[in-house]
Amino acid sequence: MMGQMMDQPLLVSSIIRHADRHFGDIEIVSRRVEGDIHRYTYAECHARARRMANALKAQGVQMGERVATLAWNGYRHLELYYAISGSGAVLHTVNPRLHPDQVAYIVNHAEDQLLFFDLSFLPLVTQIAPRCKTVRAFVLMCDRAAMPAQTGIANLLCYEDLIDANDDNYDWPEFDERSACSLCYTSGTTGDPKGVLYSHRSTLLHSYASALPDALGVSGRDAVLPVVPMFHVNAWGLPYSAPLVGAKLVFPGPAFDGRSLYELMEAEKVTFSAGVPTVWRSLLNHVNEHGLIFTSFERAIVGGAACPPAMIEAFRDRYKIEVVHAWGMTEMSPLGTTGTLQRRHFALSPEEQMAVLVKQGHAPFGVDMKVVDDAGEELPWDGKSPGRLLVKGPWVIDSYFKGEGGNVLEDGWFPTGDVATIDADGYMQITDRSKDVIKSGGEWIGSIDIENIAMAHPAVEQAACIGVFHPKWDERPLLVVVPRRDQQIDKVELLRFYEGKIAKWWTPDDVAVVDALPLGATGKVLKNEIRAQFRDYRLPTA
Ligand code: ADP
Repeated sequence: MMGQMMDQPLLVSSIIRHADRHFGDIEIVSRRVEGDIHRYTYAECHARARRMANALKAQGVQMGERVATLAWNGYRHLELYYAISGSGAVLHTVNPRLHPDQVAYIVNHAEDQLLFFDLSFLPLVTQIAPRCKTVRAFVLMCDRAAMPAQTGIANLLCYEDLIDANDDNYDWPEFDERSACSLCYTSGTTGDPKGVLYSHRSTLLHSYASALPDALGVSGRDAVLPVVPMFHVNAWGLPYSAPLVGAKLVFPGPAFDGRSLYELMEAEKVTFSAGVPTVWRSLLNHVNEHGLIFTSFERAIVGGAACPPAMIEAFRDRYKIEVVHAWGMTEMSPLGTTGTLQRRHFALSPEEQMAVLVKQGHAPFGVDMKVVDDAGEELPWDGKSPGRLLVKGPWVIDSYFKGEGGNVLEDGWFPTGDVATIDADGYMQITDRSKDVIKSGGEWIGSIDIENIAMAHPAVEQAACIGVFHPKWDERPLLVVVPRRDQQIDKVELLRFYEGKIAKWWTPDDVAVVDALPLGATGKVLKNEIRAQFRDYRLPTA
């Protein structure tokens, strides 16, 4: 017997329609590439998204065709999120921090039909345009007055001209909720980037789940500032989950430095924000150095890379801001786990709570996970048996775009490439990426633990731990650190700092001091580059 409820497909367009009808006057505030602050409402955003949908139709964009963006977090980008996906085409957010060759590769691989871009990326687009074979027109996201006179890009259109030339008389089409909605490529630290093709259904389910109180906990009481870029796994779904609940949206545009972020957060009374540890470090440094306080900021989501305990402490103890440690990946839309505390943790001491908060957390309904050994046997949830982490769920990848890499699942589970433990309460903790694991005498050493301890040292700004060759043990850990400004690193004293904090044989064999760590296109430390940099390095113990 079938249920007798309305059969409505889960479509992205329904989010912006809902936001317009129910939260039409809620603001969206953007720092623009042009430098000024722009503000309007969900109702206006919806109207302009419909105008843009008409413009796409006039440009001949068909259902399922890919339309690319090279853009910062801002209102025009948000309009494109809804105009492109809502009309049945596929929003392809390209990461502008990738090498130009990679950007051109991705645009060609996706067979993008139009390419929208912010003024900041004019030099990049000028460089790659002749190589983008499928792109029929390039659209500069600005008004007529800001259009450059000469660019050398054939078929260059102006965003506001397209908006002006079309009205908002547009009905969002209905189609199969399993249709493709957006496309995001992995950053390609290992091999060519691969496309992850989200569906309307996966995006809607992910939006519901990520807004839950024990997940990101986004609500209509929040003013949300996504620091995580809209080209990095759809800003972790916030352009969908914020309108879904009627939260105010605040976009930082191209300004991710501590000062710009702080000023925008204070001016717009931001309560909630999300980003990778590197951006939080620059915000915290700014606030610290100038003796500032936050007057509205309540909750920070830290994800994309392990959040050092010292950062959780700084937020929590000094600024009374709750930190939620989140883990996920492009292949998971991206939400996998969140480290919020549960009732059972309330009675614990602050130190015991910290031991829970540093973990990457528990899975929301919709994500299942397990850790397995090399033979694929599931390992116990005892918090100490590290294994390969596998996941499944309705917003987890089934296969890469165009079948790249073939069948990637193992018995219906997606292998994440991370090594982790899961404890009896279901809290997962990443010990390493499998390609970063240090193998000493046949045993694994988790580099994240070692880095977290170093970053709790007052003289250390950033730390990365890599395995380097050792004649007896195959590999031993080398700690690479960036000192805090005006601080000296005393190697012996820093290594003594590890005493009693981890197993003795996990302690690094040596410390190397560097000026900066190499960062990738999504703000993460590039361990393969550090390994290359220290390829000929000889440990004193070797
Ligand atoms: P990539 O870095 O390959 O472009 P993603 O942005 O999808 O891809 O990153 C996913 C990976 O980032 C995860 O597999 C994991 O290794 C790492 N990661 C994400 N969040 C965390 C976290 N909170 N702690 C540790 N590692 C994390």
